[in-house]
Amino acid sequence: MLDQAGKLSNDDSGPRDKHEATRSLQIEIGGLSYRSSIVAASIVVVFAGLVIGWAGWKRGMESGVRFAINGPSMAPTLLGEHQIAKCVACGLDWPIEISDEGKPVTCFHCGARATVANGAHAASVVVVHAHEYVDAARSISAPLRIGDVVAISGEDMMRIKRIIALPGDLVELNAASLLVNGKTIHESMRENEDLNFPVPVLLFEMDNRREVSRWRGEGWQRNEQRVWTSKAQSWLVYHHRSIHQRNQPSCIWDDYPYNADLSRKLQPAKRLALKAKVVCKGHGRLEVVFWIDDRMLGVTCDVNGQCDLNISSNDAVAVEVASLSAEAPVAIRVLEGSVQFSCLQLARQIEYRLRPHDDRAGYPIRLGSREYFVVGDNVPVSFDSRDFGVIEERAIKGRVESIESH
Ligand SMILES: [Zn+2]
Repeated sequence: MLDQAGKLSNDDSGPRDKHEATRSLQIEIGGLSYRSSIVAASIVVVFAGLVIGWAGWKRGMESGVRFAINGPSMAPTLLGEHQIAKCVACGLDWPIEISDEGKPVTCFHCGARATVANGAHAASVVVVHAHEYVDAARSISAPLRIGDVVAISGEDMMRIKRIIALPGDLVELNAASLLVNGKTIHESMRENEDLNFPVPVLLFEMDNRREVSRWRGEGWQRNEQRVWTSKAQSWLVYHHRSIHQRNQPSCIWDDYPYNADLSRKLQPAKRLALKAKVVCKGHGRLEVVFWIDDRMLGVTCDVNGQCDLNISSNDAVAVEVASLSAEAPVAIRVLEGSVQFSCLQLARQIEYRLRPHDDRAGYPIRLGSREYFVVGDNVPVSFDSRDFGVIEERAIKGRVESIESH
């Protein structure tokens, strides 16, 4: 357009309409340059504003800046505005995404119809501290680790995500699950036990909320206070039923109760955890066995007096002791001592994996010297490195240190 305008404006001998065309173009060009200078001035002002804002923001970040979470991508670790579903049948309540459709919500624990109270509950407010780099190999702040939750700059907002791979790491797939340097994300995170936000576990069974227990075992009894006792060394076995299969015997699925409206293909859960309150007269010894991926994995542990049991299949090793299956995937027995259990709870750890629509062809990914791979804890719905690829170090603005207490 500028070339055309130049030719026209040099043609003074041309017909009147051409001159008019020239004038009109010159005016247009003048208008453009006028607007350009305004735009340029605006850019300078905006840029200055950004610099001033950024400097102020960075100063603030050093002592911690508060951000309210928006959206579902880090649920259930961090929640945007949400609603609460309540189940009268088993007395549970849990957060769910805000839905316009008002679809009925089924209790993930017992399958009864849950009620959803009107009105939104406030979003989580997190405190973010600046993360600063000197160069690729060294940062002023403590080094970022796998499992850290960070604030990264997006096109129009900050995004809060979890780092699952660091510069130089290899991100690959085991079926659809993400691996880092050949290890599961959970194995990689286990080296960082003091994470500000441990990987969430999702409860799916609470024996103290059921009249009819799903735990059964020869010689085992549950009294009116729902305390389990046994005289023999027999197994107390959990029998699962799925609300997604009309409460029929089933394996445990990777359900996300927060995503009330989401319809998707479920996968068998791969990481289970058992919690219980234990009372033991003196010293006792327990064995817990899980059925994961067609394998039996066991853990033995010592107990003494009153204690809280918290056993994960991540800590279990291959065994051949109990008769388990995908539908009866957890068992516990007393090896020594007089031991009682109550408040038996089962949970599954979330699994960082690809979704059916994700492109597998891009894997494995070797991260560059300043690249990170980030995901959201709400694995089925999060928009993260599975969508937009790895992120540059400079995009990480801060580390999420805590949730602000109200
Ligand atoms: Zn229920």
